[in-house]
Amino acid sequence: MKINEIFYSMQGEGSWVGLPNIFIRTTGCNLRCSFCDTTYAYIHGVEMDVKEVVDEIQKYLCNYVCITGGEPLLQEETVELLDVLLQKKYVVCVETNGSINIEKLVGKKSLMISLDIKCPSSTMHDKMNFDNLSQLSCNDQLKFVINNKVDYEYAKKIMKKYKPQCIIFFQPVWGTDPKKLSSWILHDGLHVRIGLQLHKMIWGNTKGV
Ligand code: SF4
Repeated sequence: MKINEIFYSMQGEGSWVGLPNIFIRTTGCNLRCSFCDTTYAYIHGVEMDVKEVVDEIQKYLCNYVCITGGEPLLQEETVELLDVLLQKKYVVCVETNGSINIEKLVGKKSLMISLDIKCPSSTMHDKMNFDNLSQLSCNDQLKFVINNKVDYEYAKKIMKKYKPQCIIFFQPVWGTDPKKLSSWILHDGLHVRIGLQLHKMIWGNTKGV
């Protein structure tokens, strides 16, 4: 499989925020979001087999692994890697962009699926696979990255239509004012959490954190 980077850092997003994690970033993405902060993962990477990836992460004193991208589900070996990690008693999160069916991930113990639904300002909202929303459980999470009121209303509409049974995060696009989004959430009394990308607050918007 093609790997862009493997690194050890603080989880900055979602329900594991603040926990040390090992990150495995796969190469390649089928989307081109307007706000993408990992364009460096579109092409660059090195070929590694599953054993080499596992050997590499065993160097770290950490039991939590986040497989991210790019888009991890584009590579067949991702599920094989995931199964090996789960057998080795790692607790794993797979971050996926919402365009690919997540069927192969469902029902695995010690796995959290972190699914994105892209909003209109991403320009990728018409690429989403909404069948995924009914496959999420209370152990999983759903993330909407929100740039403006149009995105916010869109996310609300999707929640109302599909009623996902998981933790939901509204994450302001990095660099936008989180106060506005927070006030909209409070005004509407939404049962969602705001996510502020802790890793960027600590280390800045840079690679390898
Ligand atoms: S899905 Fe993620 S990696 Fe792919 S273009 Fe969008 S933000 Fe970038």
